[in-house]
Amino acid sequence: MTAQLIDGNALSRTLRTEVAQRAAALKIRGVVPGLAVVLVGENPASQVYVRNKVKACADNGLHSVLEQYPSDLSEADLLARVEALNNDPAIHGILVQLPLPPHIDAQKVIEAIAPAKDVDGFHVASAGALMTGLPGFWPCTPYGCMKMLESIGFQLRGKHAVVIGRSNIVGKPMALMLLAESATVTICHSATADLGTMTRQADVIVAAVGKRNVLTADMVKPGAVVIDVGMNRNEEGKLCGDVDFDGVKEVAGWITPVPGGVGPMTITMLLVNTVEAAERAAPSLALTA
Ligand code: NAP
Repeated sequence: MTAQLIDGNALSRTLRTEVAQRAAALKIRGVVPGLAVVLVGENPASQVYVRNKVKACADNGLHSVLEQYPSDLSEADLLARVEALNNDPAIHGILVQLPLPPHIDAQKVIEAIAPAKDVDGFHVASAGALMTGLPGFWPCTPYGCMKMLESIGFQLRGKHAVVIGRSNIVGKPMALMLLAESATVTICHSATADLGTMTRQADVIVAAVGKRNVLTADMVKPGAVVIDVGMNRNEEGKLCGDVDFDGVKEVAGWITPVPGGVGPMTITMLLVNTVEAAERAAPSLALTA
């Protein structure tokens, strides 16, 4: 059996077109959705990520501001910038690129972002909203994975989903989103005794570990959906995921590639959250008689 691909680039194009349409509709009401991206330091990977986010905004009718600061910016000064952005009506979403330099308490900075502008979904208020089913912003990467499952019409109710990884930004919110759709969810991590025994029972597997070949063909039930969040480099320096793609695609029913899978979806969902934040903040249209 050869699995069908879930193409993150193609799905992103569709969703970004919808974002651009929503942004255009807001513009008619006098609102341009705005994202502020804050980068502290010179981490080369972070510089690429923020550039991609700013470009994605420009390509889809969103306004963005990139604030770049040297790595010795004080925590107090960063908190003051976040506060200014919280109060800026042209900014609907605030993203502080992680990691931050070690002298800055990243959690303190995230908690300083107004929950209504927390388009990364990392604030405890956003995590609490996800856990309790209240409106909030969902973290972009697991939200993108949910959109990928939706795109293939996969019904999660009653299915067994296994999430490998329990980070606050991917694994845990992923598990909560799957649970909200009435899947039966198992969360695995580095202390899981026999990972294969867990994954072989799964109808859906989400791998979010950061290690190559964590999931191999013998660990997958025939026909299962496999979502690969991992971003690693192989011996040749090429980008690859956590899943042994060549082996697993012969067993799985659906599979996401790396690159071209979850990666593009993460930025797409950031755009979705930002336009959503702008819609929530926009004054409602005056009713005409
Ligand atoms: P993380 O914070 O390092 O978490 C990794 C998780 O994997 C931890 O929960 C860890 O367990 C678990 N783990 C480690 N070794 C394991 C093993 N052998 N078996 C089972 N579980 C194991 O990483 P993250 O931030 O969640 O990111 C995970 C991966 O996704 C990384 O490759 C990252 O680059 C990638 N990522 C991609 C995107 C994207 O847009 N495509 C976005 C975010 C992250 P413990 O908790 O027990 O340590």
